[in-house]
Amino acid sequence: MTRVYNFSAGPAMLPEVVLKKAREEMCDWQGTGMSVMEMSHRGKAFMEIAARAEADFRELLGISDDYRVLFLQGGASAQFSMVPINLLGNRKKADYFNTGQWSKKAIAEARRFCDVNIVASSADEGYCSVPDRAQWQLDPDAAYVHYTPNETIGGVEFAEIPSVGDVTLVADMSSTLLSRPLDINRFGIIYAGAQKNIGPAGLTLVIVRKDLIGEPLADMPVLFDYRTHANNDSMYNTPPTYSWYIAGLVFSWLKELGGLETMARINERKAASLYAAIDGSDFYSNPVNRENRSWMNVPFTLANDALDSIFLQEAAELGLQTLKGHRSVGGMRASIYNAMPEAGVEALVAFMQDFAQRYG
Ligand SMILES: *Cc1c(COP(=O)(O)O)cnc(C)c1O
Repeated sequence: MTRVYNFSAGPAMLPEVVLKKAREEMCDWQGTGMSVMEMSHRGKAFMEIAARAEADFRELLGISDDYRVLFLQGGASAQFSMVPINLLGNRKKADYFNTGQWSKKAIAEARRFCDVNIVASSADEGYCSVPDRAQWQLDPDAAYVHYTPNETIGGVEFAEIPSVGDVTLVADMSSTLLSRPLDINRFGIIYAGAQKNIGPAGLTLVIVRKDLIGEPLADMPVLFDYRTHANNDSMYNTPPTYSWYIAGLVFSWLKELGGLETMARINERKAASLYAAIDGSDFYSNPVNRENRSWMNVPFTLANDALDSIFLQEAAELGLQTLKGHRSVGGMRASIYNAMPEAGVEALVAFMQDFAQRYG
């Protein structure tokens, strides 16, 4: 078996031990004589898998009984609609930070349901920072404030959880949830598509404070109502069972590793070593304001973009794959989620230094 270091932004790498465990259990899950893929979601075996995954997820993040955890489908993109549908109530407006491509998509979708007040935007300077607190225009009457703690495409991260007074805070954590400890109690809703840092595509996790689960806007589809999922333990219709199971294996892996404190130290080291390689050379650069640099997604450009394709080809030959930057940004992007081993980042750094010496 040859495994490469896959720097894809998503779907992304999974821990090898998780894949091996899944292989071991593929055809016969713990003596049931069937694969998890073949099980009824209402049967005893899957109910056990589902409950264990939720319990481990709650333990990792310290999620209290004030919150429900929903295992949904539709990706983070479906949450772009579900958040306004379920949180607006009688209000007509919501606050959104615009710090990158994913914020922009969330805003466009929210505009279908309400007036969007842009709290602050870094669009004019190419989404390379989070605007200063002094520039924020929060609306105390907004139904909620939405932000994207880690912008996956631009590699821009909020240095802190924004303080928004008494207004409900909502976060799209698709590319950062579980990368470090988090104070869940600061949030009304956190959502994340699984395929970046949690598990396989097809599963979306939503952490929602119980008192926010209420009457949605009128005439909305039943599947877009949080109550539907909360009242049926995420089994109103068939959930993405296999993705749920694999996410559960990822949660056990994180627990065995030592939890999110340990994961955070590893992630911080990986990011520091990659940014040091970029900053330590005139050949590479990263455009993001230093204090907003992402731990998870690291975009960088070469001094001469005519060398991009050679860089990508040579990297791929060494097993360093999917480094091409997003089409809207260009250059390279290394996504270094939880499952990217430190050895993968070390191999990338060594290759970058060697490449710069040969072509710089
Ligand atoms: C990938 C991503 C999305 C879109 O996720 P889907 O699961 O494809 O809908 C939304 N927001 C962020 C921050 C992302 O990284």
